[in-house]
Amino acid sequence: MSRLTKGLALGGAGFAIFAALAWWMAHVPAVQDALLRRVVERILGATRNDLLSDDALRVVLCGTGNPLPDPNRADACTAVFAGGSMYLVDTGPGSWKNLALWRLPAPKLAAVMLTHYHSDHIGDLGEINLQTWAQGRANPLRVFGPPGVELVVGGFAQAYALDRDYRVAHHGAALMPPANWTMEPHVVTVDAKPGAAPCAGGSATVLEENGLKVTAFTVNHAPVAPAYGYRFDYKGRSVVISGDTTKCANLVAQARGADVLIHEAQSATMVKLIEEAASRLGNARVAKIMSDILRYHTTPEDAAAEANEAGVRLLVLSHIGPPTPNAFVRMSFMRGVAAVRPRGVVLGYDGMLLTLPAGSDTIDTSSVN
Ligand SMILES: [Zn+2]
Ligand SMILES: [Zn+2]
Repeated sequence: MSRLTKGLALGGAGFAIFAALAWWMAHVPAVQDALLRRVVERILGATRNDLLSDDALRVVLCGTGNPLPDPNRADACTAVFAGGSMYLVDTGPGSWKNLALWRLPAPKLAAVMLTHYHSDHIGDLGEINLQTWAQGRANPLRVFGPPGVELVVGGFAQAYALDRDYRVAHHGAALMPPANWTMEPHVVTVDAKPGAAPCAGGSATVLEENGLKVTAFTVNHAPVAPAYGYRFDYKGRSVVISGDTTKCANLVAQARGADVLIHEAQSATMVKLIEEAASRLGNARVAKIMSDILRYHTTPEDAAAEANEAGVRLLVLSHIGPPTPNAFVRMSFMRGVAAVRPRGVVLGYDGMLLTLPAGSDTIDTSSVN
């Protein structure tokens, strides 16, 4: 046996002994407990309070999908961090799970802004209200939105009232004050000419606090009306969230000069392919729905054109549909975008973190997950 062969044989035997020992130890309860203790401590100590630092405007994409199911994307949700608080624009199904998994600072949720009341934008509102309260939110939750917000908030409050009572009975009112569980609906009325088209103009200040200004503006998602987008301005930095809309002049006007535009995007090419396939398979229902949804969203190319027109620095595509499960489909989704906007555009994903430091013009992109 050569020296090399002997060395390899000894190394292999050593590894086998080590693996067997590790396997045996993993079955010892005391070893399991020690490992679990370390994991639990790491998770409990991992809350992302750093995102609340007042030195920057920050955004986390907590849901970049649309109602066509995508295992990698929750439905509509964008978290904005400014002035020591967290704000959510839309609370689509799956968004609470993302917020919880990433240990975002739930007790610091100051308000929710709803763009409109399609289910993919509101489905987790009850869950987010209950869970952020259970984690220690110290105030009632303000929920801003177009007319109709009272109905939506009232319905979720009714559905979750029994669970509130269970938790108060279980943990005590001192730990979970019922008053802080309350959601306060705030109707935002946009100043627009009566009867004017949604994209003809119109905006309203939603709130001003701790250096943050939030503005709502009308977009076109007919027959859903009114539907809003939101602009966040903080310490000279700005982020605009389109909501669901077709290409829209008011959106371009409101996004003028913003640092980041987070814009919904739906591939007309891919939706058309689904429509045609459904027709061939005799599924008239899916074919009709696909044909309808083509009319009230924006294509990636049109979102790029709007970003150019508004002069924004970075366009982030979100509310992605149809699903983009792999690089090949993502490439198809982005087809034609580079021709319109060669730079300053990215395809958003769940967990994407944008950091806009105050007093600078940089936009850092990274990930929270
Ligand atoms: Zn919608
Ligand atoms: Zn939507």
